[in-house]
Amino acid sequence: MASPSSLKKAPVHDLPTPEPDSPSLTRPRQPYRFSTLCATVDSPDGDHKDQHGSSSVPIYQSATFKGVGNRYDYTRSGNPTRTHLEHHIAKISSAAHAFAVSSGMAALDVITRILKPGSEVIAGDDLYGGTNRLLTYLRKHMGVTVHHVDTTKAESIIPYLNPGKTAMVLLESPTNPLLKIVDIAGISALVKEKCEDAIVVVDNTMMSPYLQRPLEHGADIVYDSATKYLSGHHDLMAGVITCNRDDLAKDMAFIINSVGNALSPFDSFLLLRGTKTLAIRMDRQQSTAMLVAQMLSKLGFVTHYPGLPNHPGKEIHDRISDGYGAVLSFETGDKDLSERIVAATRLWGISVSFGCVNSLISMPCVMSHASIDPAVRAARGLPEDLIRLCVGIEDPADLLDDLRHALIEAGAITYAANDYVRIPNPISRAVEKLALGEARTAPPRETREWFVSAPGKVILFGEHAVVHGVTAVAASVDLRCYGLTSPRYDNKVSVHFVDISDYRHEWDIDDLPWDAVVPIPKGEEHPESLDLRVVEAIKSRALPPESQMPPKTHAAAVAFLYLYMMMTYSGHRPAFHFTCRSTLPIGAGLGSSASFSVCIATALLILHQRIELPTVPAPTRPPTNPGDPGHVHLSHGGRRAIPPEIAEEANRWAFVAEKVLHGNPSGVDNSVAVFGGALAYVRPGFGKRSGMDQIHGFRSLRFLLVDSKVPRDTKALVAGVGRKKIAEPVLVGQLLDAIQTISNEARRALADPELPRETLLSGLAALINENHAHLVSLGVSHPALETIRSITAASPYRLSTKLTGAGGGGCAVTLIPDNFSDENLQSLISALEAEGYRPYVTAVGGSGLGILSPYDPIAVDQDDDTPPLSPPMTPQPNRETEPLRPSIRRRFETVDVSELSKWASDRGKWLYV
Ligand code: PLP
Repeated sequence: MASPSSLKKAPVHDLPTPEPDSPSLTRPRQPYRFSTLCATVDSPDGDHKDQHGSSSVPIYQSATFKGVGNRYDYTRSGNPTRTHLEHHIAKISSAAHAFAVSSGMAALDVITRILKPGSEVIAGDDLYGGTNRLLTYLRKHMGVTVHHVDTTKAESIIPYLNPGKTAMVLLESPTNPLLKIVDIAGISALVKEKCEDAIVVVDNTMMSPYLQRPLEHGADIVYDSATKYLSGHHDLMAGVITCNRDDLAKDMAFIINSVGNALSPFDSFLLLRGTKTLAIRMDRQQSTAMLVAQMLSKLGFVTHYPGLPNHPGKEIHDRISDGYGAVLSFETGDKDLSERIVAATRLWGISVSFGCVNSLISMPCVMSHASIDPAVRAARGLPEDLIRLCVGIEDPADLLDDLRHALIEAGAITYAANDYVRIPNPISRAVEKLALGEARTAPPRETREWFVSAPGKVILFGEHAVVHGVTAVAASVDLRCYGLTSPRYDNKVSVHFVDISDYRHEWDIDDLPWDAVVPIPKGEEHPESLDLRVVEAIKSRALPPESQMPPKTHAAAVAFLYLYMMMTYSGHRPAFHFTCRSTLPIGAGLGSSASFSVCIATALLILHQRIELPTVPAPTRPPTNPGDPGHVHLSHGGRRAIPPEIAEEANRWAFVAEKVLHGNPSGVDNSVAVFGGALAYVRPGFGKRSGMDQIHGFRSLRFLLVDSKVPRDTKALVAGVGRKKIAEPVLVGQLLDAIQTISNEARRALADPELPRETLLSGLAALINENHAHLVSLGVSHPALETIRSITAASPYRLSTKLTGAGGGGCAVTLIPDNFSDENLQSLISALEAEGYRPYVTAVGGSGLGILSPYDPIAVDQDDDTPPLSPPMTPQPNRETEPLRPSIRRRFETVDVSELSKWASDRGKWLYV
């Protein structure tokens, strides 16, 4: 046992080496930083000076020492090598006392011998398996009561704090293997307040004294399995105990001497040697752990690591510790898959334990935590598929590479669209497949027509930068995409994309590649990654090669079928026809794909009966004149808006469709298409507040949208900026920062009701110019866009223009001030048209997703002799109870695009988000 605080008074030793020998002897405690303290081993006192001046503490491999009444007589009671080690451990742990014993469990054994029959212990519910085993033993055989509670919620221990009985509160933070965070400081204070006799014991193994010193936060006893980080090489077993209380230290010294589990001289030597490099190892290990955690989280695995921005309890952890450690865990959703991943790694050794310089991989439920009863594991939320990673000091690139290969080999991820993407886990959805066999309770056939629409968007500020965590400001435009579903009775599903080359296709439902599909059960969310087997199956078996289809129709059809098949549940495969039209230019960067995605997502959610719209009472009797509202019960009260949860569900599925269309969409376009208005959006995963914020008070603005008619490749442009960021991180970083400032200013101005209109417009004009300049520096403009800019900037127009969306072609947006004359507008439009561009005058900030309830009076044009749906048609089964109203499909397909918007709004009373 050593006591550095008492040693401070000892005479300065005269050992010449190592230099500096003992910072703590000549200066106040901890004059040096941690790694210096680690590397410099002090002599505990004058008694220990080495007669030969050895640089390394010698191994006193001797059981006995000669003489009577000397400092050492028998190694169970004391050994000079161990004394050096204990002195060193106390120093780096801010402790008055330290003990070195034969293992981490031996340390806990020593500590728990303080308990007596009848004592109560409060312990965490996510503890190391061995700790659990020992506590269970004490409970069964020693009359100790153990309460396992969720110590991540400090208040959950309160009901168990029993003054006079609670003897010990045992904590671990972060917990192993779920990395849950426990507020050591808060709980220590609580225990002292309510049960002053109880001691707080902390297992600090996951952090080591370098990253966390619980004695500084009110703990009474701290122990580490020194088998882990302190030794660092997996070449010894050891445990260390530290504390500041003399009474506790005395009891524990007595126990160690009595039972004889103190650390052997040779292991003390090894542990002392390992400890010298603790800080430097840990620095490397935890920086790589962060990279691994980020990679897994980005791939969509549920990843547990306190360094990740969304980790629960991160804020507490940041307060009580100096780092995040090098252990992390992740879930795959499938135990077999996890086993395959673990088996497929090469560099990551399959082994229990952690803290070694070599990286390790394990499955706690079958390895370190196997001793916990499976039912208890389940009750404590320990997933059977959990994989724990313990990161070592190997080159980070090799570790990431090896893990990625293992994930690919095991079938967890694949390489697609220039990136690694997760293959959705088939297991949970296989359950759905099984359920299909039992309960083919298909919901009733949908016999109504549904009419949906969604606006396009214009990104006003922040495009491209949004992919790198910058705020984007986007608004809806008053150009829309429309979708109409009409029932079919021939087990076919068909599409007609009127404004994309008048493309039509129909499929026999039974011929679709269902064998590749494991649908998403109703109520569950689609995983983050697409199921690429389904995408491939659709491409290879449901459609001709892309080259044989009109441009853009292939991707649209794949997205449609992907959603159609993935949404199917309980064997319900609705037969219907989907017609789509658009007043938005397609592929011009105005969010046409997102509004298309919102339309198909919403229509499919309705037809698959995955969402329930507010009930709108049915017509009271068959409408003789369907255009006559008098025949329809219209008392909808205040239920005419689309409920937010439906809007959100439509948005989630639209995002899935966007992924099929774009690979890596930002999420802005589909959100604007659903929610309308204007919003500010920050992508998750950049350590700041992410998500979508509606910009309230947004005042409608007039813009000229000019389609350059130059096709662009969003994926390639986004990837190009990504490459530039890697090649020139400083420059791109500065540009992104500048764009963030622009977005912030624009957002503030747009939401400020006090700002005079004039000031708003001139301020926006300046921001538009600035933002465009940065986009040029990012390399995403195009000569056509620059020409549009110069035409609009020329006299007499003097307008501000920027590219919008991905750039590289596509559209430009020009702000039109309120006082801009019609004459000038007309002449500008002519000037642009003369150059071959297509201008649209539009207002931004209008409504989002709209659904036309089929019970609303669908006005069919009087001269519309709309025939029944396409043959072969069978009569509607329950025609008596639900009259077949004339279809609006024929007119919808043929109405001129310039009249489409008015025609659609005349159809009936739309429900809007
Ligand atoms: N505490 C934690 C958090 C551990 O992970 C371990 C071992 O894995 C122990 C205690 C027990 O340590 P030892 O194996 O050195 O007895």
